[in-house]
Amino acid sequence: METQRVEPEHIAISKSRGIEVDWKDGKHTSLPLETLRRECPCATCTGAHGTPPQKWTPDTNPLRTYTERLKMQSVEQVGGYAIRIFWNDGHNAGIYTYDHLRKLSEADS
Ligand SMILES: [Zn+2]
Repeated sequence: METQRVEPEHIAISKSRGIEVDWKDGKHTSLPLETLRRECPCATCTGAHGTPPQKWTPDTNPLRTYTERLKMQSVEQVGGYAIRIFWNDGHNAGIYTYDHLRKLSEADS
């Protein structure tokens, strides 16, 4: 697979739905919240420090209320190469590089 670096032309953020990216090569990516949360690249979620990965899984409790559903509280740009997502479950350690977003989009399609 190509490892060539592709930059986003435009990133559209919907805090209750997810992220859409228009890439400079013309590709369009739609990443739902669940995908982004599950693929959080931080050390805790991936087990990078030799600890077992603590992958996020969707809350299957049927009694959950609408307000408990997964959402992004805010999204911050990091150094022109990544975004950081602050989740409403308190998690915010994941730095999503554009490369990572691009990889997710290719795994998805
Ligand atoms: Zn994480």
